[in-house]
Amino acid sequence: MSFEDLNLNTPLYNALDDLGFTTPTPIQAEAFNVVGSGKDMVGIAQTGTGKTFAYMLPILKNLKYSTQENPRVLVLVPTRELVVQVVDEIEKLSKYINNRVLGVYGGTNINTQKQAVAEGIDILVATPGRLYDLALSRVLQLKSIQKLVIDEVDVMLDLGFRHQLINIFDILPERRQNIMFSATMTQDVDALISDFFKNPERVSIAVSGTPLENISQTRYNVPNFYTKVNLLTHLINDTETYNKVLIFVAYKRMADRLFEKLDELFHDELCVIHSNKTQNYRLRSIEQFRNGDNRILIATDVMARGLDIDNVSHVINFDTPLYPENYMHRIGRTGRAEREGKSIAFSTEAEQEAIGDIETLMNMKIPLLEIPAVVEISTELIEEERPQIKERNNPTKRKNEDVAGPAFHEKKAKNQKENLGGSYKFKIAKKYKKPKTKGDKNYNKRNKRK
Ligand code: AMP
Repeated sequence: MSFEDLNLNTPLYNALDDLGFTTPTPIQAEAFNVVGSGKDMVGIAQTGTGKTFAYMLPILKNLKYSTQENPRVLVLVPTRELVVQVVDEIEKLSKYINNRVLGVYGGTNINTQKQAVAEGIDILVATPGRLYDLALSRVLQLKSIQKLVIDEVDVMLDLGFRHQLINIFDILPERRQNIMFSATMTQDVDALISDFFKNPERVSIAVSGTPLENISQTRYNVPNFYTKVNLLTHLINDTETYNKVLIFVAYKRMADRLFEKLDELFHDELCVIHSNKTQNYRLRSIEQFRNGDNRILIATDVMARGLDIDNVSHVINFDTPLYPENYMHRIGRTGRAEREGKSIAFSTEAEQEAIGDIETLMNMKIPLLEIPAVVEISTELIEEERPQIKERNNPTKRKNEDVAGPAFHEKKAKNQKENLGGSYKFKIAKKYKKPKTKGDKNYNKRNKRK
């Protein structure tokens, strides 16, 4: 496939020529028609795959020249660095297009940005917090946004931006196209998609460049967390074989929990990264792991993004990732540069389905190993593993008779209203005229007329 097949226009072809790009990357080829169709889309692609152009090519192709001041395209990204990078990419592609692109982010003077906004823009690239502040200040009007792109959604949610995103959804026009990109699928991303997007089309490119043939994969069936810890300890006690071990866990709490357990035994050899750790702490951990000061690094999927570390001897999937793509990203951290890498996965009963999905994606079975006899099988369960017991009619449990029970009569109609929070307020405001207030000049006039 070449760019000619995408039916772009002369200004875009000229810009691509200047850049020396001749063929679309897989995500660009796959996403082009979906983004162009106006449907909601979720793209699974990592940085470096050409995803910025994957959404900007169709958007720029369809964006008409306009002199109106309010932006029509909004791109949200999690960090300032990304704002700068994305603006830069858009400008390269817009070299022969007369459009106005602006990047805004927190930590800098908001007044300068307000002035820039007031000059009129077509495409706005922003971090969520600063965007919201600008919108509240009313200098920035979002009523003309037709396309919302959220890039690196997984990082965005992992950094705790869910609330800010929802606030922003509330002030955007309802009729708009949503385009999201995420490198990894997490439960948070899945929840956001099902809560706020209309049957988005999924565009996922095969995880390329994972040299499966360089990685020897094995797996164990392990009943629970504590047995996983025992097996892991048994394995990594062999410091010669396991000389650079990257351990993946599903979420932050699990990372901390595992860190605590392993810290007792491997104190000086251990480090951890997840998004609740400070930037400095994370950078230090990565550096210590990279240069070999620490032999073991515990990481979550999202934070391990972009880790380019050589000579990882083993990737250990302390849990089995729910989304097969994440497994591919994880094991791709070993077996780099033609070196043989090893990956090991631990799966509980509950994780068997996920292992099945991974094997289907790779079209191969991962050899199953027996837990060595010396490893103690624990029966202790952590909170998440315990069955949820719902108590019913426990005769020994006394009711607290002082607690106010439910009302025994139906509420009056006027009391049945629920406080539905911010979004509801906006809907109501749209539907009804402004309420009369004391400051309303025509208030008395209207009353007199009645
Ligand atoms: P991204 O994944 O958007 O961060 O892009 C990664 C890099 O690939 C950027 O430096 C782009 O300029 C570059 N790039 C994007 N599309 C292409 C293409 N079709 N051919 C070659 N390089 C590209």
